[in-house]
Amino acid sequence: CGIIGYVGKEPAAPILLESLKRLEYRGYDSAGITVLNSTLETYKTVGKIADLESILPAEIKANVGIGHTRWATHGRPETRNAHPHVSSGVSVVHNGIIENYLELKEKLTELGYVFESDTDTEVIAHLLHHNMNNGTPSCDLLAAMHKTVRDLEGSYAIAALCCNEPDRVVFARKDSPLVIGLGETGNYAASDVTAFLKHTKNVVFVSDHEVGYILPNAIRIYDPEGKLLEKSPETIEWDL
Ligand code: GLU
Repeated sequence: CGIIGYVGKEPAAPILLESLKRLEYRGYDSAGITVLNSTLETYKTVGKIADLESILPAEIKANVGIGHTRWATHGRPETRNAHPHVSSGVSVVHNGIIENYLELKEKLTELGYVFESDTDTEVIAHLLHHNMNNGTPSCDLLAAMHKTVRDLEGSYAIAALCCNEPDRVVFARKDSPLVIGLGETGNYAASDVTAFLKHTKNVVFVSDHEVGYILPNAIRIYDPEGKLLEKSPETIEWDL
């Protein structure tokens, strides 16, 4: 029900946790994060953000990560259904509903993918993985995201990480809110400005069908055909 992505100079885990707490008001039954420090580390659980906090190691060295609060739509509120969902080296958080997930699941199962959850979301992780490894040699997470969203029906705000791309979070949106925050020491992607308002008031709203990414000191947003868009940041006038 809420997503957050961060990449920058600060330790990612505390920023993700704090943002998830800010998103708590939207309601949720489970929560999780993936951080990237040469490999992906994923922690998730049913229950409160405090429960998630209690299973984290004392120190997590990572400056990039994604987080999620889940309001289950497909698959019961269980830890294995909590996000992020991982497909060897690719991690995904998602708000919304993938309406054609059963059809995609069947196709991906035939290709050899093994599903670990009952969610609609897990197809996104495997599709991204499939599109990265079976595409042209230059196919990266951004290209894979462009390709993946063409197969998705329904609503989504997605943030994704790939272990081979240590300084970016790739995102996509259709019929679920997504906003980018431009900070002094890093950038944010979230379902709601309250997630990062403590760090920055400079935002760019992502529109339906747009795909893009955040880097520690830059953002890029593209239309569905892959054309780079020039979107000017806006300043949020209100406080938390
Ligand atoms: N449909 C997804 C699930 O049930 C995402 C739900 C959400 O937006 O939290 O896992």
